Amino acid sequence: MSNQADQVATMLGDATLAELSADLRGEAIVPGDAEYEARRAIWNGMIDRHPAVIVLCRDTADVIASVRFARSNNLPLAVRGGGHNVAGNAVCDDGLVIDLSPMTAVHVDPVRQTARVQGGATLGDLDHATRAFGMAASTGVVSMTGVGGLTLGGGVGWLQRKYGLACDNIVSAEVVTANGQVITASETENSDLLWGLRGGGGNFGVVTSLELRLFPVTTVYAGFLIYPMEQATEVLRYYDEFCRDTPDELTLIASLATVPPEEFVPEELRDKLGLFILVSHCGEMEAAEESLRPLRAFGQPAVDMLGPMPHFELQRMYDAAYPAGNRWYWKSDYVRALDEATIETLVKGAAARPTPLCAIDIHQMGGAVSRVAADATAFGHRDAPYLINTYAGCVEPHEDAATIAWPRGVSAKLAPNATGAYVNFLSPTDSAGARLAYESGTYERLVALKTKYDPTNLFHLNHNIPPRS
Ligand SMILES: Cc1cc2nc3c(=O)[nH]c(=O)nc-3n(C[C@H](O)[C@H](O)[C@H](O)COP(=O)(O)OP(=O)(O)OC[C@H]3O[C@@H](n4cnc5c(N)ncnc54)[C@H](O)[C@@H]3O)c2cc1C
Repeated sequence: MSNQADQVATMLGDATLAELSADLRGEAIVPGDAEYEARRAIWNGMIDRHPAVIVLCRDTADVIASVRFARSNNLPLAVRGGGHNVAGNAVCDDGLVIDLSPMTAVHVDPVRQTARVQGGATLGDLDHATRAFGMAASTGVVSMTGVGGLTLGGGVGWLQRKYGLACDNIVSAEVVTANGQVITASETENSDLLWGLRGGGGNFGVVTSLELRLFPVTTVYAGFLIYPMEQATEVLRYYDEFCRDTPDELTLIASLATVPPEEFVPEELRDKLGLFILVSHCGEMEAAEESLRPLRAFGQPAVDMLGPMPHFELQRMYDAAYPAGNRWYWKSDYVRALDEATIETLVKGAAARPTPLCAIDIHQMGGAVSRVAADATAFGHRDAPYLINTYAGCVEPHEDAATIAWPRGVSAKLAPNATGAYVNFLSPTDSAGARLAYESGTYERLVALKTKYDPTNLFHLNHNIPPRS
């Protein structure tokens, strides 16, 4: 236990904490409580912070009480959704954490084709609720990720090229602002705030619920191909050629990662570095087969696991590869092209990874993502054809230095071809922080919005956009 967090809780005093608790339906957890250790842990095991109070919020009123309490007691304030962000801003030292994880309700409106999602719901909660209606939201690729953090930062995933990013599909949001007021952001109310919530991250308040557009997606044609590393360079060259002319229904991710020791994998490839092409097609099955024929015929994939599957299953298919508690450091780069130098950097970089948990994903962008005007939302770098995520993981603290150095090295080599970074993939020590995620015009607009909605920077534990002083 951190003495400091304990001291802050003691300084607040039992009477003050009792006042907070009296305003809550949820619980206020302090150092020494049985649940404290489990509640301060997040997905990235490298983050080890000790809050003075963790408030398990059950409703919007709990969030209002927590915001007011943090402000009046001058406590650092962190907001936790799914707890998946690699930078670890969901927890803080010696301050108050608004933990939204009890707020997971999802209400589907099948007529309007929307879902009202509470701020602590995971992608799994959302997918569970929508599939019963034969619909899906455009979100991300791992079901334990929080809808809140993913959507506010952008939200890249399998349906993005057909239906846009998660943030493009926010219809409205309920937001508790820095002064403890509840406001709605939509096209007709506080539309400037809606613009900022579409990519600007958690800078503007606590989003207690999001109304998201849904789409008629049930079965997808999906899965993966695996190639031995000897073929990686030529397959990545072909991947680039193939990606230039794919229908919007198709979204691909090339991934240089460890091949699992599964029965369907030839023995000589198991536990080795390999090249995956991960696939999802959300249109007709015949059209999917037709579109994928040239890709499947290229080279000699050692594994071809493509076929129809429920979208709901695809959303959980890669969960096991990302267990909570390992130690992670990520870098991301939007690149102008997957040119020869970039392919060489990626193939050589992957071969030099320090642990088997390290991987490089090359997300195909374009389609509906690139057709939204650059100034229509806060999300940056929409015109990049690829988003590269270099992520390193380890188990033991003594491996941290190598784990942090490797993605930095790969990203530094990509720099001449890079236009920026994805805010949701930024690590804690990305010094340029949010500036990397937005074009300069967008950044200036975000500063103005921050100055309007959070002039004292109460919500600063995020990839922060400081207000004008
Ligand atoms: C295994 C894994 C897979 C991922 N896959 C994808 C993917 O496919 N696509 C993609 O785009 N991203 C993906 N991400 C990145 C993910 O989008 C970000 O980490 C995101 O911030 C996670 O949101 P969260 O609510 O789980 O995180 P948290 O750590 O709880 O929150 C992150 C930050 O978001 C803000 N925040 C969260 N909820 C709220 C809210 N309700 N109101 C206000 N602010 C809030 C806060 O500032 C908080 O510090 C993945 C991450 C992991 C670890």
